[in-house]
Amino acid sequence: MKLENRETLLGMTRAELQQLCRDLGLPGYAPAQIARWIYKKGAVSVAQMTDVSRDARELLDASVCIGVDGPVEVRESRDGTRKYLFAVGGPAKKSPAYVETAYIPEPSRATLCVSTQAGCARACEFCMTGRQGLQYNLTAGEILNQYAAIPEKEKVTNIVYMGMGEPLDNLFPVLKSLELFTSKTGYGLSPSRITVSTVGIWPQFEELFDSTACNIAISLHSPRPVERARIMPVEIQHPVNTVLEFLKTPRARSRRRISFEYILFDGFNDTPVHAVELVRLLHGIRCRVNLISYNPGGESLLKPSSPRAAAAFQQTVKTKGMIATFRKSRGEDIDAACGLLSTRRLL
Ligand code: SF4
Repeated sequence: MKLENRETLLGMTRAELQQLCRDLGLPGYAPAQIARWIYKKGAVSVAQMTDVSRDARELLDASVCIGVDGPVEVRESRDGTRKYLFAVGGPAKKSPAYVETAYIPEPSRATLCVSTQAGCARACEFCMTGRQGLQYNLTAGEILNQYAAIPEKEKVTNIVYMGMGEPLDNLFPVLKSLELFTSKTGYGLSPSRITVSTVGIWPQFEELFDSTACNIAISLHSPRPVERARIMPVEIQHPVNTVLEFLKTPRARSRRRISFEYILFDGFNDTPVHAVELVRLLHGIRCRVNLISYNPGGESLLKPSSPRAAAAFQQTVKTKGMIATFRKSRGEDIDAACGLLSTRRLL
């Protein structure tokens, strides 16, 4: 059943489950039982919680639902990538918004790319999500549901917050979802298997950094502030340099992986001079650069770099001593590749 008016158990932390159980007069061991059913055993209904007493199940059923809610559509790419469409909108919303989630299987890993917002307010020039504006901030339960409700859940090895939306614009549900993905009383996944991608909004970035050990990817796309602002308006209000300066401080040294995303645009940011400036800008940060081929969405004047310019860019960065890898594009034929997620057709 979709979008019920009851609160969802999926997305509740241990402390919230304890409060709920206290409110319902349930015994002290009930929160642990419920958490196990939701996050370890994948229950989709309260009725499945067979070690919870019948009376307790009736009380739960009357006030909450699990919140595992299957996708409304799935499309499969020639390369095996699957794109799921989920209806979101909180328990009480009558007219849902929609988000897309990509499942990307590879020989040695399977990555799930989750969304944190329906649409996005940041309007990056190269991103189809940005073109639809912001419709809705997902709850923690709706972020987790993109994992809980897909048939490949058990195969997922890595989760990336690189779907629709800017995670730091929906910070608290994102932090809560990270806690539930990684805590022992949640799904218990390793933080090293989770990456949050952001354009680098300050001071929310610091809060993300301090609250989780997950990897962080920063969308950079140009070493020059004026140039970056032309394709990423967020640069004007939140210069990425604040984040870079923070990452250069001793306090920011950590074992997590920090990476910088760099989409290569023909004649815009792909010259050898840009490569040298990029290395200089990131000097002092233990990081890697992920180079990405641009997937034009149809409404931008930006063009993808030629393979030759892209290879030369990578070589220059590597020669200067920095790790630079190419991220393989997946799911292009179903618009699941980087920058192409959009539910504008449903607005
Ligand atoms: S790239 Fe990220 S921050 Fe920019 S518009 Fe797209 S979803 Fe928003």
